[in-house]
Amino acid sequence: LLDDAGAFRSTIFDETSALAAAHGAINLGQGFPDEDGPRFMLDEAVSAIGSGQNQYTAAVGSPRLRAAVAAQQLETQGRELDPDSQVLITVGAAEGLTASLLSVVSPGDDVVVLEPYYDLYAAVVSFAGANLRPVPLRPPHFAPDPDELRAAFTERTTAVLINDPHNPTGTVLDAGTARLLAELVVEHRAVLITDEVYEHLRFKGDHASLVALNERSLIDHDLAERLDERTLVVSSASKTLRATGWRIGWVTGPAELVTGARAIKTYLTHSPAAPLQAAVAAGLENLHPWAEDLAAEQGERSRLVVDTLRGLGLTVADPSGSYYVVADFTPLYERLGVTDSIGLSPALIEKAGVALLPIRAFASAGHAEQFDGWMRVAACKQPATLVEGMRRLREAL
Ligand code: PMP
Ligand code: GLN
Repeated sequence: LLDDAGAFRSTIFDETSALAAAHGAINLGQGFPDEDGPRFMLDEAVSAIGSGQNQYTAAVGSPRLRAAVAAQQLETQGRELDPDSQVLITVGAAEGLTASLLSVVSPGDDVVVLEPYYDLYAAVVSFAGANLRPVPLRPPHFAPDPDELRAAFTERTTAVLINDPHNPTGTVLDAGTARLLAELVVEHRAVLITDEVYEHLRFKGDHASLVALNERSLIDHDLAERLDERTLVVSSASKTLRATGWRIGWVTGPAELVTGARAIKTYLTHSPAAPLQAAVAAGLENLHPWAEDLAAEQGERSRLVVDTLRGLGLTVADPSGSYYVVADFTPLYERLGVTDSIGLSPALIEKAGVALLPIRAFASAGHAEQFDGWMRVAACKQPATLVEGMRRLREAL
């Protein structure tokens, strides 16, 4: 996160995207779609701008979008939420995560995360003056060891931050880990912050979210209810509605916890863009069959990437969700003249014309080495983009 002078540096996403653009490379690094969300949603944004929805909404977000989020979570997770006290609209999941963490964590507290993790987690934990307690998801299966998970909890653990389906590994939480996490969070009276930005991108297995009270296969009902009392769910329109640039997200949970996140959020940005809140509400109100098609399409796109990488003789972690595919590129070091996967990213941009990201950039400095070799492919691009990217990789390698 920090440069040699101790300042926050720019993110691996921005750095790699800039290098990819400079070389005309296909950008399978930064995870964002190269196509738009549903047409009716785009039309709603234009019409909202044209019909006077251009001033601040309430800091908690527009009533219509809060109602749409509550209805969607009732349907997909069986959680009943009061749109007035249990839903907060944020500037992307990024602000939702930031406000949630800052509202529950104090300096010196411990925050448990699964590593590799989305880089914002470490930045916000550091803003809070808290300590990151990473539990490794080791290759090639990227599932946590139950003993290591248990050992990461201390008397100072106030928050646990998970992401499911997972960026960068493409895994989804298995039932055993979900149960253990639930037990540990409840036992330690911690707050679970669950980052579900890829909630609708599940294409293998039948596990729903850890907090889906209507999904009995993960944890029993009693434990699920006790967990629900201490859980903030964070999600956004970015992946579900292909609108990463709109910066609309939300936080839901018990009123007391949402009020805490709201207090911080109000002073970060007040409220997100009003016309885009209206458009995202329309997107959520008409989520079917869009969401099902999105997941099915993503399954095919990820499969295309998996097949190509396996064809190159690489070890690939079979993805079940999110829109990433990870593979071990160590066998290619010699051919590409590199000694680690940080060097591999620019080498692939220059020699293959394709940008990928090293997983080690999603780990804390002391742990990066154990993820060396593993690269992430953002398989969320249109089939034509992916086919050309995979053709370039096959040709160069
Ligand atoms: N969490 C994860 C795991 C992500 O991959 C991302 C990036 N899209 C975010 C949060 C941030 O999402 P948003 O665009 O809604 O801020
Ligand atoms: N979430 C996206 C990724 O993991 C990009 C986010 C960003 O650029 N900060 O690639």
